[in-house]
Amino acid sequence: MRYSIWNVLAQGLTGHRGWKPVWRDPAPQADYDIVIVGGGGHGLATAYYLAREFGARRIAVLEKGWLGGGNVGRNTTIIRSNYLLPGNEPFYEFSMKLWEGLEQELNYNAMVSQRGIINLFHTDAQRDAFVRRGNAMILHGADAELLDREGVRRLYPFLDFDNARFPIKGALMQRRGGTARHDAVAWGYARAADALGVDLIQNCEVTGMRIEAGRIRGLETTRGRIGARKVGVAVAGWSSRVMAMAGLRLPIESHVLQAFVTEGLKPFIDGVMTFGAGHFYVSQSDKGGLVFGGDIDGYNSYAQRGNLPVIEDVAEGGMALIPALGRARLLRSWGGVMDMSMDGSPIIDRTPVEGLYLNAGWCYGGFKATPASGFCFAHLIARDAPHPTAAAYRLDRFRRGLMIDEKGQGATPNLH
Ligand SMILES: Cc1cc2nc3c(=O)[nH]c(=O)nc-3n(C[C@H](O)[C@H](O)[C@H](O)COP(=O)(O)OP(=O)(O)OC[C@H]3O[C@@H](n4cnc5c(N)ncnc54)[C@H](O)[C@@H]3O)c2cc1C
Repeated sequence: MRYSIWNVLAQGLTGHRGWKPVWRDPAPQADYDIVIVGGGGHGLATAYYLAREFGARRIAVLEKGWLGGGNVGRNTTIIRSNYLLPGNEPFYEFSMKLWEGLEQELNYNAMVSQRGIINLFHTDAQRDAFVRRGNAMILHGADAELLDREGVRRLYPFLDFDNARFPIKGALMQRRGGTARHDAVAWGYARAADALGVDLIQNCEVTGMRIEAGRIRGLETTRGRIGARKVGVAVAGWSSRVMAMAGLRLPIESHVLQAFVTEGLKPFIDGVMTFGAGHFYVSQSDKGGLVFGGDIDGYNSYAQRGNLPVIEDVAEGGMALIPALGRARLLRSWGGVMDMSMDGSPIIDRTPVEGLYLNAGWCYGGFKATPASGFCFAHLIARDAPHPTAAAYRLDRFRRGLMIDEKGQGATPNLH
């Protein structure tokens, strides 16, 4: 069923009785050509691009809960391509370009809003680093602008410019960055993949892998055995546990990341903003709530909820930047389980098990990567060769010392 304004009008005039289910609810078949484990943004996008771009058929996505119940429906919705390193920037810019045509392609309103993102800087050294990053972005075909203090003040006069412990000196701006409605991205990909014949199977947890002579043959699940010629694993925070079923130990730790939303306020933050002297990022949702977040909780966990000390820490960061934030009431907070890699960059690669592929290590930033991650993972699975923009995301880079350490923090997953 194609969505259009005419459709909405026709349904409105006939009591909305003609809407069809957005995807089927099929029972799992005995075997598939390709099985994707994980019905988050990356798994669903991978299935969609496999069918749409690479002509693959007989594909299933297995999801232990419900589609979009993981991090894809829990994040702070920021999309951007403001990276520095050559291993990262072309990939994230590819993702940005896919975002720009996504809603038309999927025929689904994912509320992609290129409202602009600014990264504030507070020291001269930070300005130098951001100038370097902006130049790298421009060299890779992305957009970047440097704002001075007055440029920032014109956009956001309510920031603490005059009494702050860390005075604002300017910002790096990417106008094409912004936000997208997170769960609608999962639903849009799910609907489009289903229309191409992909079986989306919910309440189906993968509990084991059948591997014979070094080759994947299928999966054990809570809904029975499912055979597969190829298996792609895209389970974000659960990557270590699922890959342990294949006997692999990953360079990944799972940590909780929290997000927060205030009561609805009149519009006053047009774009996305990040604090440069602490970890705090904020935007305002279309309903008026301030959506913000900060650091991970800092201990290993698989719980999708966090603790009070980090709430306090994030609120302190927010208050240091926007003193008026102290007047807003917090409406909701929640947590997601992050797959933190050793260098803060992801993995899209084959594994030592033939036919088994891994998509993981998204740390704080996998939502913006959803379209490119799906596309590049589909490319890898279909052609057995990496997509050029994701060629650096190899699993063996940790052993070989070829880190993609955007922040320069070293092999410390809880700092990335
Ligand atoms: C609070 C928070 C804020 C964030 N903010 C941003 C942001 O602003 N911008 C940004 O770019 N990124 C952000 N992220 C990161 C981003 O959300 C994640 O990196 C990304 O969503 C991970 O990929 P995914 O969507 O495929 O993961 P998920 O949605 O977590 O999908 C993985 C799926 O695998 C399923 N699964 C796990 N184990 C099994 C199994 N054994 N069998 C079957 N299924 C299984 C899970 O149930 C889950 O649905 C944020 C994350 C959080 C938690």
